[in-house]
Amino acid sequence: MNDLLPDQSPVWQFLETKVKTVLQRYGYAEVRTPIVEQTELFKRSIGEVTDIVEKEMYTFEDRNGDSLTLRPEGTASCVRAAEQHGLLYNQVQRLWYTGPMFRHERPQKGRYRQFHQIGAEAFGMLGPDIDAEVILMTARLWRELGIESAVELQLNTLASSEARAAFKAELVSYLESRKDQLDADSLRRLETNPLRILDSKDAGTQALLDGAPSFNDFIDEESRLHFEQLCQLLDAAGVKYQINPRLVRGLDYYGKTVFEWVTTALGAQGTVCAGGRYDGLVEQLGGRHTPAVGFAMGVERLVLLLEELNAVPDAARQLVDVYLIGIGDDNLVPSMALAESLRTEAGMNVQLHCGGGSFKSQMKKADRSGARLALFIGSEEREAGEVSVKYLRSGAEQERLPLTNISMALSERLNKGLGE
Ligand code: ATP
Ligand code: MG
Repeated sequence: MNDLLPDQSPVWQFLETKVKTVLQRYGYAEVRTPIVEQTELFKRSIGEVTDIVEKEMYTFEDRNGDSLTLRPEGTASCVRAAEQHGLLYNQVQRLWYTGPMFRHERPQKGRYRQFHQIGAEAFGMLGPDIDAEVILMTARLWRELGIESAVELQLNTLASSEARAAFKAELVSYLESRKDQLDADSLRRLETNPLRILDSKDAGTQALLDGAPSFNDFIDEESRLHFEQLCQLLDAAGVKYQINPRLVRGLDYYGKTVFEWVTTALGAQGTVCAGGRYDGLVEQLGGRHTPAVGFAMGVERLVLLLEELNAVPDAARQLVDVYLIGIGDDNLVPSMALAESLRTEAGMNVQLHCGGGSFKSQMKKADRSGARLALFIGSEEREAGEVSVKYLRSGAEQERLPLTNISMALSERLNKGLGE
């Protein structure tokens, strides 16, 4: 579980702001749900025999003896909230959420025990058009963030639950007779969650799967058509994808469309965004049958990718425009007044030097603040009704400006790039 410190937070804010803007472009509304839920909710949605529920959840009893769990993902909570407040009754919904999620996994680069997701869920729409729109929205986001060349879309259909069940039976009987060639994880999954074996990272298992029955032969007509139409919509919109017949998800509720955006720039933890269709989940949690599709992206992994690609513009890290110094006690009042008026009139981010010290050490702090301008008021400036302006990031000559109209004069100079 990590702390987020000031050198990192601008990257997070850059990402979060872009994501919010894109979500709003597509008409998504935010929901905020509690960080804890009844344990039962996750067991019933994610699935009893998934890794998340079996091994990764932070579960505890509260003082009433109720079993609660720190949420390991956001979809279940979102469905619970939407259902509980009647949002799904005879209407479509486009919802998004963000926040910390908790999974007791082995920590490594891109994998943490408290991590953050931003997710979106679209309810009440059956056809492939909304699947396509959801994917288009993520593609736009990568463009906005400037990381589109580093991510690739993988696509698959998990078809109907009947198709999956029929395939599962065939797959298990094929693998049962070749157990000795399976890696340990896959061997365990053979009993519990055989579809997950398809995305085993073990080379031996992958080779074994080459001879296994193909899921393609089990896909039902309706799912096949849905998938074809989705591909056509993506083709028409110019979104490139790779069909990966072995793409499965670690959560039981997915059917039909599944997708992942993956990058090779982060090593093993390359999935930055994952999602798909889960038409059965609302009903499974006690609601009326409601088709749904959604995704979640891993914020830490996207932050790593933004940094890896140097995609965060300098302006996003620029927290302070102006560092303001009143030299000596006599000049505290005018300098504080000037700081306030720059904030009010010019909307500038002003860091006022507080706590005195020598002029030299104050100028050092001005430089370290990252500000483009240092302003100072000494007795001379005060008596003349002026302020001294030093350009910290350029060779521009230091100058004295009158305090009247100072906001406008400084804005103009910054706009002209005098501060760069
Ligand atoms: P993975 O195969 O990487 O474990 P998953 O299938 O468990 O992913 P999802 O539950 O679909 O992941 O979560 C969606 C996204 O959230 C992932 O693609 C990833 O970007 C991010 N994510 C999942 N688990 C973690 C974690 N422990 N730490 C950081 N990010 C995570
Ligand atoms: Mg996982």
